[in-house]
Amino acid sequence: MFDLSELPFDYNALSPHLSASLMRLHHDKHHRAYVDKLNKAITKHPELAGKLLVDLLKDVDSLPNDVRVSIINNGGGHYNHSLFWNCLSPNELRMPEDRISKLINEKYGNYEQFVDIFTTKALELFGSGWVYLQPDGEIVTTPNQDTPMLSGLDEPILCLDVWEHAYYLDYQNRRDEYIKAWWNVVNWTFVEQRYKQYLK
Ligand code: MN
Repeated sequence: MFDLSELPFDYNALSPHLSASLMRLHHDKHHRAYVDKLNKAITKHPELAGKLLVDLLKDVDSLPNDVRVSIINNGGGHYNHSLFWNCLSPNELRMPEDRISKLINEKYGNYEQFVDIFTTKALELFGSGWVYLQPDGEIVTTPNQDTPMLSGLDEPILCLDVWEHAYYLDYQNRRDEYIKAWWNVVNWTFVEQRYKQYLK
């Protein structure tokens, strides 16, 4: 069975960018609901219980028909949120460094242009979904709780949740303000580590 991990920081650690109430609601209610529903689906097929979530999501065609959609939605929700929390940090490394900085500069010229393009994609994403930075430097979006692996892409190294539940409590309908605030709490150290694992 899958577990909901604790946040890797205090609920109030990202304030004022993301409030404690928002983090509590998002993690304890929304993320938990995905984990609970994923486990409910898995209960019907005990042979899936020992598998890694990422392996389930990389090969959804082999999933049993009656739980495939639930695993895409709720397994995707669990995967996306687990990555999202790790991509956040109250520490003040505001800019990418080292290898990830090199990737961004090669692909986008500089950090500011990368932020502009990523932000534009996040603002243009209609409805609920996610924005990712891929290990090849591409920025991709998905609807709902789909992951890049659903389209045969590699695991992402950075993700941004643009579901309204991710910001409504703090920013109401102002997705632009939420995204601007989010850049202040991106955990570039984690993204760097994740990218280096991919390079190995
Ligand atoms: Mn969310």
